[in-house]
Amino acid sequence: MASKLLTGDQVLVIRGRDKGVIGRIRRNIHKDGKVIVDGANVVRRHVPRQQGVAQGGIIESEAPFDRSNVMLICPSCDQPVRVGFRMNDSGVKERYCRICDAAIPRPDVD
Ligand SMILES: [Zn+2]
Repeated sequence: MASKLLTGDQVLVIRGRDKGVIGRIRRNIHKDGKVIVDGANVVRRHVPRQQGVAQGGIIESEAPFDRSNVMLICPSCDQPVRVGFRMNDSGVKERYCRICDAAIPRPDVD
């Protein structure tokens, strides 16, 4: 099943503490319906000093949150948009923007 949100997509947080934050999806946790977005839902955690870890102390990292809390930023019209699916001229399923109708390419992820 195709997912509307892909790793590397730029999204806007629309709910919660980080409403308004824009970031890229770093990880997509499909089984939980969650995403990790750069710079959003940052939590501080105490990490004890231990073997194999360079240093203990407080680290900040992004916690996963429900993907219904984000909207894709359309690369064409630069707005938070709803995403649809359609067949393109080659018969390949593609995502498209429901506002400007442009196809939304898969993000480049390394
Ligand atoms: Zn658009």
